[in-house]
Amino acid sequence: MNERSGSTVDLHCHSTASDGTLTPTAVVDAAADAGVQILALTDHDSVAGLDEAARTAAARGIRLVPGVELSVSWQQRTLHVVGLGINPAAPALGAGLAVLQQRRADRAAAIAARMERLGVPDALTRAEALAGGGQITRTHFAQLFVAAGLSKDIPRAFHRYLARGRQAYASARWADLEDAIGWIHAAGGQAVLAHPMKYSKSRKTRQEMLAAFRAAGGDAMEICCGTSDAREIAAGVCDALAHDLAGSVGSDFHGAHQPWIRFGRLPALPDSVRPVAALA
Ligand code: AMP
Ligand code: MN
Ligand code: MN
Ligand code: MN
Repeated sequence: MNERSGSTVDLHCHSTASDGTLTPTAVVDAAADAGVQILALTDHDSVAGLDEAARTAAARGIRLVPGVELSVSWQQRTLHVVGLGINPAAPALGAGLAVLQQRRADRAAAIAARMERLGVPDALTRAEALAGGGQITRTHFAQLFVAAGLSKDIPRAFHRYLARGRQAYASARWADLEDAIGWIHAAGGQAVLAHPMKYSKSRKTRQEMLAAFRAAGGDAMEICCGTSDAREIAAGVCDALAHDLAGSVGSDFHGAHQPWIRFGRLPALPDSVRPVAALA
């Protein structure tokens, strides 16, 4: 199996530093056990898990690419931009992360206030406890809807309460696209548009988004995600070539929250696409 095979490379996953269920050590162990040789840990708006992940990766003899998944606001939408190969101690990135983390905390309070009115008490304190010092995400609030018996599972809690426009949704102003890409570059990393197929069903909107991402200095896009089928991968290859973007592969593994996504099951990046630097 070559290095570009998706089964041995995974450049997008989450730990308890954001909304994953496994600690950074357990994430690296799970990936290594599944045969992954190059792994990027990319927590939402946080680099807090990277030191621990790097230590475990060294012990397991696999390569850990330091990463992050930044929240971006673009034209009334939230986009996710993964930074790969970043120096987590870079000052510009650190300052950007501090702003995003404050906005996460403010939005968490707004979501909790809405949940109070829906009959879920103490949501902020309980979400903080679930996050265990990591970033508070909507996934934690979704867990509370399930615990309260108001939703059967996390996807249903999103659909009914936490998706954009639903009763417990609170909007947040995340980073501007140019700023997020600038912080990643200032930290020596590559900026990758995460899961481009997830933002809109409209092909036209996706093309506008990719053009804006490229114009803002973006380097690559994810082509093989944990849920991609052959048709999506073919469309991703066309998009990458049309917009002069390199390609990346990442499962977006979260542990038990998304049990259908596993390590070591990603399709390989097609040869027609230039691999992102972490893969080359
Ligand atoms: P946040 O960044 O706090 O707004 O939370 C976004 C995270 O929520 C994503 O990274 C996913 O892990 C999760 N998420 C978003 N939509 C859904 C959904 N429909 N079902 C399950 N998880 C979701
Ligand atoms: Mn997530
Ligand atoms: Mn994402
Ligand atoms: Mn992710």
